[in-house]
Amino acid sequence: MKPYWLATAPAFTGGQSADAALPSRADVVVVGGGFTGLSAALSLARVGVDVVLLEACRVVSEASGRNGGHTSPGTSQNLAALIDSLGVQRACHYYRSFSDAVAYVQAVVQTEKIDCDLVTSGKLKLASKAKHFPGLAANYNALRQHVDEDVELLDAAAVRREIGSTAFFGGLLQHKGVQMHIGKFGTGLAEAAARRGARIFEQTPVTALVRRDGDRHEVRTARGTIVADRVLLATGCTMHGELDWWQRRIVPVGSFVIVTEPLGRELMDMVLPGRRNYVTTRTIGNYFRPTEDLRLVWGGRARFARSDPRSDSKSGRILQAGMRATFPALADTRIDYCWGGLVDMTTDRLPRAGKHDGVYYSLGYSGHGTQMAVQMGGVMASLVLGQHADNPWDRGGWAALPKHKGEAWFLPFAGLYYRWCDLIY
Ligand SMILES: Cc1cc2nc3c(=O)[nH]c(=O)nc-3n(C[C@H](O)[C@H](O)[C@H](O)COP(=O)(O)OP(=O)(O)OC[C@H]3O[C@@H](n4cnc5c(N)ncnc54)[C@H](O)[C@@H]3O)c2cc1C
Repeated sequence: MKPYWLATAPAFTGGQSADAALPSRADVVVVGGGFTGLSAALSLARVGVDVVLLEACRVVSEASGRNGGHTSPGTSQNLAALIDSLGVQRACHYYRSFSDAVAYVQAVVQTEKIDCDLVTSGKLKLASKAKHFPGLAANYNALRQHVDEDVELLDAAAVRREIGSTAFFGGLLQHKGVQMHIGKFGTGLAEAAARRGARIFEQTPVTALVRRDGDRHEVRTARGTIVADRVLLATGCTMHGELDWWQRRIVPVGSFVIVTEPLGRELMDMVLPGRRNYVTTRTIGNYFRPTEDLRLVWGGRARFARSDPRSDSKSGRILQAGMRATFPALADTRIDYCWGGLVDMTTDRLPRAGKHDGVYYSLGYSGHGTQMAVQMGGVMASLVLGQHADNPWDRGGWAALPKHKGEAWFLPFAGLYYRWCDLIY
């Protein structure tokens, strides 16, 4: 089923026509039309660079148009855990980079006048078990001490004023973080890039990148070959073609989303009076938020399977059961949309961006890409042009995963392990 975000957004009209010839050369070719690629193309086109973006399917048809729609600050791991593993300086640098990314999205929306229902919502992380609350408290202290004073630790009674559910034992509220209509943002971003001069070719998968000299590459497609002075790989984890080096390093993990019928103001006020972005503390947890037209968007990992129509509906039933258990008031609520997508995970759940064999790349946002992908598009545009930009994700020494090439054979085992963690911890 088409994601709610794409079904209710205007279609992208600024692309090149289906029979347009590919140019024989370009200053920069961007491979992939998700948030990373579109944001990079926009930044490059703004400064007059001749940029061509090649998208295998439709713009924002993969993760960028299929996500849960949370645009929140913070890394995938909590700050306290990150400080334990990386030390204060690096952990805070990474954390701030995500906060900056939220501001970057807001700036793009404002500058390009993208109509995408953007509101500041904050983010509430909810303790699914009483024993998860001390972890939230430790993170609250770390946030306040190092990066963000605008946070609150809520006990169970305070959480019940924020959300109409008795399922939680406390929460950590961060006031920064936004919601937007992800589909409207995505097509708005694509229109802005095209308006600024980027040439966007949809239905044009890149089949191979052949290095010529220096960073110059032949970018091969079934429609022809472009010689590009620079190439930016922005394919997320749905990589088509011969992209072996990256496929061995990124793990595509299915995540699934359902969207209810419009709840009406009264029921929404009962269920989500705070109208925030919500995530739960379980390892296989849930993420949810309201929409502008007062639907509930409810997501989670549900199954450790690739996203396909069959697993979508099975995952949808699992998600609906979880939603009803959390919000008994939604027992009879209809589900209007159900879909799945692939999250581009790295083993340490932090992004990777740099250059390999003359190809620039940025990916691996690990479920936190609606802000970071947009910011990294801008960062990579600067790096491609040889300018300085803060890129915390060029972290060196990126090892391939043993016996891994694209399809993650080990996911069912990881799923069993995570379920076990949720039972024990
Ligand atoms: C179900 C789900 C829920 C999520 N929820 C959230 C959330 O709530 N908050 C959050 O911050 N993040 C979330 N994410 C993650 C976030 O959506 C992604 O990190 C982000 O959109 C990645 O953007 P991208 O441009 O790098 O990749 P993508 O959006 O995947 O775009 C890559 C594009 O490259 C194209 N492509 C691939 N190979 C080729 C090729 N050879 N030639 C041409 N084109 C090619 C693909 O077709 C695709 O369109 C979620 C992801 C999923 C799947």
